[in-house]
Amino acid sequence: MLSNRHLFFENLAQTSGFPLSLEIERASGCWLYSPGGKRYLDLIAGVSVSNIGHNNPAVISAVKDQADTHLHLMVYGEFIQKPQVRLAEMLCRFLPGKLNSVFYTNSGSEAVEGAIKLSRRYTGRHEIISFNNAYHGSTLGALSVTGNEAQKRAFRPLVPSVRHIDFNCTASLSEISRDTACVLVEPVQGEAGIILPESGFLHKLREKCHEQGALLIFDEIQTGFGRTGRLFAMELFEVVPDIVLFAKSFGGGLPLGAFVSSKEIMISLSNNPALGHITTFGGHPVSCAAGLASFKYIIDNDLVSNVEKKGFLFRKLLDHPSIREVRGIGLLMAVELEDEDIVKKFIEKCIDKGLVTDWFLFNGKCFRISPPLIISEKETEYACNVILESLNEL
Ligand code: PLP
Repeated sequence: MLSNRHLFFENLAQTSGFPLSLEIERASGCWLYSPGGKRYLDLIAGVSVSNIGHNNPAVISAVKDQADTHLHLMVYGEFIQKPQVRLAEMLCRFLPGKLNSVFYTNSGSEAVEGAIKLSRRYTGRHEIISFNNAYHGSTLGALSVTGNEAQKRAFRPLVPSVRHIDFNCTASLSEISRDTACVLVEPVQGEAGIILPESGFLHKLREKCHEQGALLIFDEIQTGFGRTGRLFAMELFEVVPDIVLFAKSFGGGLPLGAFVSSKEIMISLSNNPALGHITTFGGHPVSCAAGLASFKYIIDNDLVSNVEKKGFLFRKLLDHPSIREVRGIGLLMAVELEDEDIVKKFIEKCIDKGLVTDWFLFNGKCFRISPPLIISEKETEYACNVILESLNEL
């Protein structure tokens, strides 16, 4: 029989010439297991997805129950389905301000697409502003607002009327004008290598959008659901956007995304034209049941309150002359080494030693630390020992 590795390269479309290509058979908590039984501590959680750990029993049981009840029934927005409405109710209860209307999608990129359309429709304007080095997804609209030319060049022409400004540059906020439909921002830039907003920057951005009548969109696709030490990063910076985007950990390990706004804004997507934004599978009942179980698990077990402390332990233990900087907040961190080659070799060494990490799309000098939020002290010590050992061997 052909090996899975063979079929992976033979029949799966590749996203690069250098996939991690690690075969994983099962997963539990913070651990991934290969068919041979070798185990790996997961330091990336599927890129900020598995916040409550792999195969959390609460999610598995919700998925099984929902699968026994019903799968897909009807396109999003027509039938009343319990998992969708219960999850939306809980989300709105925990979100501040007027963020009380949830539009479900299947992915983060689709949440970005929906939010852009909503902004244009609501404001009647066309210009979209986003930030250099931001990552918002790979569909054509999401790629257009992504702020990395190397990633985009080969796919031009992209969506017109998109402009990029510099993150943390107050002067560049003057670009936001009466033509601007929306400004899309990651409150903490992820793929740029975990860049935090400077003090007051997001406040100034909020004020400027308000002044010019542009909608402010927070992409909380990586930062959401506890990763930064708050349930949502917007709480950390005390800025409430007009639209917020979720995906990744939102579905508790199943595909689910959403853009959330006020009813007043959101209603503009439902008329003139009616059905101007629709999706077949957005808010799949099994994904929503998993998302609801995951959200409840985070709240019931107060997972968020320990995240900051867990992040500090990593920082304390990661003391090594090859480490240039440990950046980030909570359990969303980038560790900067000397250069890209070293990071690549380092990642291979870590995998050999039973630890999975990776690099950032727009910052090859850093490796990622975004483990499940349930990571224990012992597991953190294990991870840091492997990191230090691997650095020593480079
Ligand atoms: N926005 C951010 C901040 C992301 O990190 C990602 C994915 O990495 C996306 C959007 C796109 O999400 P998806 O891959 O689910 O389309």
